[in-house]
Amino acid sequence: MLFCNSEPDWAAQRQQMIEFQLKRRGIKDPRVLEAMGTLPREIFVPERMRPWAYADEPLAIGYGQTISQPYMTALMTQLLQLQGHEKVLEVGAGSGYHAAVLGMLAREVITIEIVPELAELARRNLERVGLTGKVRVITGDGSQGYPEEAPYDAISVAAASPDVPQPLLDQLNDPGRMVIPIGGLDEQELVVIEKAEGRIQRRSAALCRFVPLRGGYGWKVV
Ligand code: SAH
Repeated sequence: MLFCNSEPDWAAQRQQMIEFQLKRRGIKDPRVLEAMGTLPREIFVPERMRPWAYADEPLAIGYGQTISQPYMTALMTQLLQLQGHEKVLEVGAGSGYHAAVLGMLAREVITIEIVPELAELARRNLERVGLTGKVRVITGDGSQGYPEEAPYDAISVAAASPDVPQPLLDQLNDPGRMVIPIGGLDEQELVVIEKAEGRIQRRSAALCRFVPLRGGYGWKVV
């Protein structure tokens, strides 16, 4: 029997993820594929979950929270259509993976996390991949946005909300784009909101399932 103690071939697993989970499901934006094909996702996954770092599902990161399924991160990022000049707000940093992807594709990212231990973890992880200069992690309630740095050209919300929090809408630049899961606690629609010339358009891009948004404009019971 052959026993192998060495590190898994992460680069190969990453390429499989790109081909089978992303490209085959319609992720086309070359910048998104390039970023997710480069960024070491295994760093953002807790030690005991690491063998599944590139699995086609969300994974537990502690505190009842998750790192999103790779496809969901790719889809949300693609929907934002980032060109490179944007200032981005993320609500719900978790372990920082999506914030890192956004940081590779935009000028500047502010990500807010309500669980202080996860905010600290995201900071450490972002430092390990050299993105500290691009991505700032704030500890706090992101359902209120982060008015100090508004407006944002793009907003990505990683937790399910009963409706679009008004502060996020107010802090979205014109033109600007937001992706946010809206609906009940069990299932939501991934909604894309576009602000342009003072008008707001809203469309549903997919069905999805996220952890609940907490805080002032989130769910009161969780
Ligand atoms: N962006 C992550 C996914 C994190 S899961 C990724 O890279 O895959 C969603 C996160 O939102 C959880 O860590 C949760 O603690 C956080 N969260 C929930 N409500 C929040 C709020 N009101 N403000 C900031 N973070 C919140």
